[in-house]
Amino acid sequence: MQYFRSFNRQRAAMVAELRSLGIRHEGVLDAIGRVERHLFLDQALHLRAYRNEALPIGNGQTISQPLTVALQTALLDPRPGDRMLEIGLGSGYQAAVLCEMGVEVYSIEYHERLWQLAHQRLSTLGYVLTSRVGDGSTGWPEFAPFDGVVVTAGATETPKMLMSQLILPSVKKQGGRLVVPIGDRTAQKMMRCLRKGLHEYQWEEGGAFRFVPFING
Ligand code: SAH
Repeated sequence: MQYFRSFNRQRAAMVAELRSLGIRHEGVLDAIGRVERHLFLDQALHLRAYRNEALPIGNGQTISQPLTVALQTALLDPRPGDRMLEIGLGSGYQAAVLCEMGVEVYSIEYHERLWQLAHQRLSTLGYVLTSRVGDGSTGWPEFAPFDGVVVTAGATETPKMLMSQLILPSVKKQGGRLVVPIGDRTAQKMMRCLRKGLHEYQWEEGGAFRFVPFING
């Protein structure tokens, strides 16, 4: 009991830290406050789960830093009922945060073992989403268009196939948002692409990050 209580306190402290670091999206902060990040990690890492750091999840991959998850989710600006695609399910943590916000989540993971672990974990925790193993660079056309697409690995080029799967503002007022870190292997800039029309996109540039590399399958 003590064990669980202390994690609740640590999680609340992490949310307060994210707020102090500039995250202002209340829906995102609430969702992060509800997802038990330690359950997405090996037991040996539980005590570090609520620090603002990326941690290993196997296959050379990492669960993103909480600040990064908060920022990417805030940039997606999810509304309940939105349909969103994640490239890089990894531990399943980012997907769980989106589920908590009432998003209909689709996710693709390159590594079969990571997919299996995350799939099992998410269903045990009661999160409902659609996911598969594969190379996410071409998106998931069968389920497009999406209100949001988030890439959780560092891309080296503009993902055109993902841009084309964003919903048009003529169909849904807000239009689709793509959040993707783009750069070289050592550092990326957080980029957001807003769909403005059939062939019109507006790019915005954010801060510098370091993600595990996108696998060009
Ligand atoms: N969103 C994850 C972060 C995982 S790290 C989480 O919350 O834990 C990025 C993930 O992207 C890794 O699991 C990696 O295997 C996956 N990945 C990298 N390139 C990919 C690709 N081309 N298609 C699908 N997944 C990819």
